[in-house]
Amino acid sequence: MYTIAIDGPASAGKSTVAKRVAKALDILYLDTGAMYRTIAYKALSAGVSVEDEAAVQKMLENTAVRVRYIDGAQRMFESGKDVTAFIRAHEISKAASDISKHPCVRVAMVELQREIASEQSVVMDGRDIGTFVLPEAKHKFFLTAAPGERAKRRWIELKQEDKLGDETLESIEASIRARDAADASRAFAPLRQAEDAVLIDTTSLTIDEAVEKVLERLR
Ligand code: C5P
Repeated sequence: MYTIAIDGPASAGKSTVAKRVAKALDILYLDTGAMYRTIAYKALSAGVSVEDEAAVQKMLENTAVRVRYIDGAQRMFESGKDVTAFIRAHEISKAASDISKHPCVRVAMVELQREIASEQSVVMDGRDIGTFVLPEAKHKFFLTAAPGERAKRRWIELKQEDKLGDETLESIEASIRARDAADASRAFAPLRQAEDAVLIDTTSLTIDEAVEKVLERLR
């Protein structure tokens, strides 16, 4: 069984690379960020402050996050509702980072992540997979890229999807930096490279090259 952990900061190419690696190996891909985004979406929809830990904990009592695969693609459900289409919104990124610092949220999501990894081979991407969720994983990677490059990629993605709105390259880079700083400085399971993770800087790599670096290492 393969357990592959891919961690790193926002927009470093983790999900694209992880998806491609999972496809090449014909194993499951799990985007763990989508799980935190689902909780954040629920909080925003229910008018629960993401900063209020007690209120978030109360909300979790009637929150059921489920991951399903439909036609090979990961979809997120909350209490039976498919929320996949809503969790990529810009405001959800910040809310996901804010809500994911609460231990009660992380404990619930990590339990689900470990359960999925115990049942099948998986490529999991996130922030704390190699350090906290699956510290025993045999294959760990830490993908990163210069903040300016990550902002540029995100800008292109938003532009292509016609979702740029009022965002500029500068505002995108500022949000990415703020989210990384928050993710890396939280007390519980922060964003950090595991000591035994292979560092891949994708700043000047194409997606194909980054995927090949991971596959080469696995071979
Ligand atoms: O990966 P993505 O950008 O979708 O993740 C959204 C947010 O969820 C991150 O900024 C981070 O705060 C949180 N997250 C986390 N641990 C993970 C995956 C995501 O804390 N394993």
